Amino acid sequence: MSSKQAISLEFFPPRDIAAQEKLVRSAKQLLALHPAYVSVTFGAGGSTRSGTADTVRLMQNLGCDAAPHLSCIGATRAVLADILDSYRQLGIKRIVALRGDLPSGMGGDAGELHYASQLVEFIRRHSGDWFHIEVAAYPEVHPQASSAAADLDHFIEKVKAGADSAITQYFFNADAYHDFVERVRARGVDLPIVPGIMPITNYSQLARFSNMCGAEIPRWMRLRLTDFGDDKASIKAFGMDVISRLSQDLLDSGAPGLHFYTLNNAEVTMGIWKQLRLG
Ligand code: FAD
Repeated sequence: MSSKQAISLEFFPPRDIAAQEKLVRSAKQLLALHPAYVSVTFGAGGSTRSGTADTVRLMQNLGCDAAPHLSCIGATRAVLADILDSYRQLGIKRIVALRGDLPSGMGGDAGELHYASQLVEFIRRHSGDWFHIEVAAYPEVHPQASSAAADLDHFIEKVKAGADSAITQYFFNADAYHDFVERVRARGVDLPIVPGIMPITNYSQLARFSNMCGAEIPRWMRLRLTDFGDDKASIKAFGMDVISRLSQDLLDSGAPGLHFYTLNNAEVTMGIWKQLRLG
């Protein structure tokens, strides 16, 4: 890993005191990785607005630069403006701007903004250059996109609206990432696109996430993971090997860094980190 490559870590707001204690323990351990920043997810429809803000404050108290995720689906401009102002008051300088997903049955067109590009535009209009804006990228194509070409066009719209860098959905096939970066560069866009890294600890959970977000689990991995059955230790060991190899390949081929989806669990991310050659 070169001095130009940076690590970032993603956490989600804990649901109760026990989960919060676990999060603090995990975050303290993971600070050994010297992350450039940590990000905190935000539930669809604004349901965890206070959870995200509380967790961001918790991370700031641990000495981390914290970046809240902000999704626009289901929200009004007034609510979004209020959230942006409160983050600015907390001294937050980075935001992960997303469309978000509404829970099924709530209708796809709720709220005043329908796409992340509109949120990025709104943040720039409301807050100027105060925030560094991260957006989501989909090397294996967003599951609702009408085509790969249209998805790329919509990604470029987010950049043109004012995004500074991007974090990808997780993937297990490095070629999908390289192909995506190449297609973005061919459009004359040079923002950093940081691979999102998903540790593997639980096959059924991973299969469920992957079905929802369109990340492909290669056949050989599915078969290996199925063979392990309930043997959690073997799943974890296999996952750490596969993901550290993927992470190493990405770093060696010049990715600007890695964004770990920690799932609030230090052990697996630390395990992957320890297997990397750190140059
Ligand atoms: P967009 O960029 O708006 O794209 C969504 C879809 O709309 C795509 O198919 C795109 O091609 C299409 N599209 C975009 N613009 C147009 C247009 N003008 N016309 C027609 N179609 C268009 N979700 C949460 O709820 N909370 C989180 O904290 C969260 N964190 C995430 C972090 C990362 C790094 C990633 C990769 C995803 C995260 N998500 C989160 C999931 C994300 O909200 C979903 O993937 C969501 O479905 C899309 O969000 P987006 O910002 O990529 O949307």
